[in-house]
Amino acid sequence: HVKGKGKDGYCFFSDSMSIDTANRLNLERDLRQALERDELRVYYQPQVCATTNRIVGLEALVRWQHPERGLLYPRDFLPLAEETQLIGLLSERVLDKACQDVGLWIRSGHPDLRLAVNLSPIQVEHPKFVETLMETVKAHNFPAGNLEIEITENVIMNDLEQISQKLRELAELGVRIAIDDFGTGYSSLNYIHRLPIHTLKVDQSFVKAIRAGDDGACIVNAIVAMAHGLKLEIVAEGVETDEQLEYLRRLGCHQVQGFFYSPARPALDITRTLGQSNARAVAS
Ligand code: C2E
Ligand code: MG
Ligand code: MG
Ligand code: MG
Repeated sequence: HVKGKGKDGYCFFSDSMSIDTANRLNLERDLRQALERDELRVYYQPQVCATTNRIVGLEALVRWQHPERGLLYPRDFLPLAEETQLIGLLSERVLDKACQDVGLWIRSGHPDLRLAVNLSPIQVEHPKFVETLMETVKAHNFPAGNLEIEITENVIMNDLEQISQKLRELAELGVRIAIDDFGTGYSSLNYIHRLPIHTLKVDQSFVKAIRAGDDGACIVNAIVAMAHGLKLEIVAEGVETDEQLEYLRRLGCHQVQGFFYSPARPALDITRTLGQSNARAVAS
């Protein structure tokens, strides 16, 4: 981007812009190194059954333990990873690590534990997406039925034909499919009963609207009612308060995920939680 032109026709850049550019280049270099040096971490956020309070699933959320900047969140580096094609390698690392961690928990007394992984649009659009994904899953002997992939409505609407074929292949292998951030994308509801979808994840913006007397709760009501009608599982994201939890429970929402129970935590913490309380969620 050119900020403006000097009177001699030279382009000049603001200080902040050159810093941004330098930052970006540094970050890109750092991200390449991070992959080489194994600085990416996978954190897990419990998905808790709304009726039993048990942990039924874990969503893998990537973090970057940057040597100087500390712990970085996806918003700090995922867009860059997607622009620079590093997303392919990054995604493989996450799935690899997650299959390893959750596979271990599955084999050590939690056979039904589900692993939910987020997929980037670029990853899903790759012609060898299904093949690559399943290679990693099989390499870890991870049971396909315990895997749930999370995609957004936009990914589906982008190329409905291609995506539906890939999703059908995965579903036939036993992989579950969840729509993430449901209700926030640019989409038609028509795809829902035409695709092998198992789960709808109610976006946190709708959950936030659950407050006494707030009209925003209508959207949650509608989504849950629709999910019931279509026999889909429903996970509410971003549950932070007891009031939200109670509301969702009464509505018949199957699972909840959010800071009320737990943020995403490192594998070691999850091992402890699963061991200590025999898969009971620990409210903190
Ligand atoms: P998402 O899949 O919708 O994940 C939910 C986000 O909400 C996570 O942010 C999670 O830490 C946060 N969250 C969970 N509970 C609460 C709550 O009660 N309150 C609030 N305010 N936030 C809550 P995070 O980890 O920063 O991830 C952001 C997004 O980055 C994810 O949104 C997902 O789209 C993407 N992402 C994360 N990990 C991966 C990955 O491994 N691969 C890909 N492709 N995308 C990822
Ligand atoms: Mg997600
Ligand atoms: Mg979400
Ligand atoms: Mg998201």
